[in-house]
Amino acid sequence: MSFSGFPSSKIKAIALLSGGLDSTIAAALIKRAGIDTVGFTVHHLFGGDCKRTPQIKAAASAVGIRLIIRDLSEGQLEVVRRPRYGYGAGMNPCIDCRIFMLKAAKQVMAEEGAQFVVTGEVLGQRPMSQHYRALMQAAEESGLEDLLLRPLSANLLPDTLPVKEGWLEREDLLSLCGRGRREQMALAEELGIVDYPSPGGGCILVEKAYSARLRDAFAHHGKDAVGVNEFLLLRYGRHFRLSDRIKVIVGRDEAENEALCNLAPGRILIEPLGVMGPTTLIEGDPVDDELGLAAALAARYCDHSDDSHVSFRLLRPGAGEETAGETIIATPLSADDPRISSWRISP
Ligand code: SF4
Repeated sequence: MSFSGFPSSKIKAIALLSGGLDSTIAAALIKRAGIDTVGFTVHHLFGGDCKRTPQIKAAASAVGIRLIIRDLSEGQLEVVRRPRYGYGAGMNPCIDCRIFMLKAAKQVMAEEGAQFVVTGEVLGQRPMSQHYRALMQAAEESGLEDLLLRPLSANLLPDTLPVKEGWLEREDLLSLCGRGRREQMALAEELGIVDYPSPGGGCILVEKAYSARLRDAFAHHGKDAVGVNEFLLLRYGRHFRLSDRIKVIVGRDEAENEALCNLAPGRILIEPLGVMGPTTLIEGDPVDDELGLAAALAARYCDHSDDSHVSFRLLRPGAGEETAGETIIATPLSADDPRISSWRISP
């Protein structure tokens, strides 16, 4: 490690953390080289599960660095609505998303009086966002240029300011390339990093089912009308589009039923009475026939004998949880009713 220029102990870096192994190692390498390293992440809507923030906190604590968390959901939604560089296999706008995160890191860098930004990107690891041109483009478009250091592949990329200034030596940095993880795992051991999550499993925008629901929401509501609440709702339940105006969301288990209850404001909620069955939300302004159809669909997923009816408690938007609501009775659709698969929003 070098101490030419000005002492590396006075140099500060902002390390983007994702909770995964690569970004954790990248931060640990920079800290080991004597740079004052601060972790940074955004709380965002697209994490595949709710363990992401605890994972990132655990990563920062494993490296022994402070962590800054920002909620930039609105900005991220705008990236998903109108990505300049388009989508990947799903609705994942990876190039724009990376640029967005780097711009956010640049802002934090300025606020913290730091000199550069560090990421765990590895050249060639992801086809859309981590090939050479995409890495260079992200550095340029984020405005970070040579203040963006990717320690894991730095020795395969053009020199950045930390190397040019002598804050870091090339031997502090690596030449990793491609999708393999053997070297990262060995490094993790060397750096004392244990208990890291497996790769992938991160972003719901790459999932086919979620992407199909998001495309449907954009098509029927318009991109600007799909906000944080709608993005959240797309995560839960079976989604059925009964018509251009009406969508029905049927919970699949207890956890989803609870999530749907929390997302009920502004929507019609129906719950079965006297039998086990899903919580169901209805979007739009259904006429009685449509309401009956939605209840018949929900009844198909309730415990019932073949010839029975199912009663539901119905709460309209604005009705309090404590109110009795209305009661509607539905005859369940049969499991092989072809309308069920034609309504289902699926890839
Ligand atoms: S996988 Fe998701 S979170 Fe990661 S860069 Fe792509 S869009 Fe962003």
